[in-house]
Amino acid sequence: MSARRAAGAIVFDMDETILRRSRLGRLAVYVPGVASSKAGLDLIGQPLPGAVEALRRFAEAGHPIHAVTARWEPLARSNTEKWLAAHKLEVASLSMPSYPLHNGDAMAEWKTKTIRGIQCDQLLAGVGDRESDVRAYGAAGAKLVVGMVHESAFPGRSAERLSTLAEAANGIRAGALLISDGEVAPGTRKEGAGWTLAHDRAPGSVWRTAEAAIAEAAAERS
Ligand SMILES: [Mg+2]
Repeated sequence: MSARRAAGAIVFDMDETILRRSRLGRLAVYVPGVASSKAGLDLIGQPLPGAVEALRRFAEAGHPIHAVTARWEPLARSNTEKWLAAHKLEVASLSMPSYPLHNGDAMAEWKTKTIRGIQCDQLLAGVGDRESDVRAYGAAGAKLVVGMVHESAFPGRSAERLSTLAEAANGIRAGALLISDGEVAPGTRKEGAGWTLAHDRAPGSVWRTAEAAIAEAAAERS
């Protein structure tokens, strides 16, 4: 047999996808040097349970992992790099826009272009929390898209939000997970076209669920 095929790449968003920001976190990331202290790192955001570990396992298994975040690069790159290093998450690349992105369309367009640019092989999966993330992963050709919804961010509207994310992938394999205190809320999953989420095999944190779904997609013959 020939040498092992290169494993597909995984693209992920940061805010509200691998970390949960504090109330001040969205500002803190733009304060020079804030990531130099533990308190500053925590202010920027706390990792979602299992997120860092899951991504590390994919990286160790040979999947290039790429962080693509709409944080504004001139002010946020240093703090973002320090946050990743502090949490021992070594990424194949960290992409950020050099100009501010003012709306969902601008974010989706920038992320699509960026992902197409960094993708050296097959794009296995994209994980994000915004409609623009899901649209970009789909447009860039991801085999699988995982959308995350925080119940606390959409009080009373989380079911609607789940449907929006699952549908934003427009026919590609996608699923959205509801995050309630870091766990997948039971009975609230929405499934996009053709994707049965590997939920029962990996109950627990959303990232364990996401990891199982990505692993399943990776194991399939493409
Ligand atoms: Mg986000």
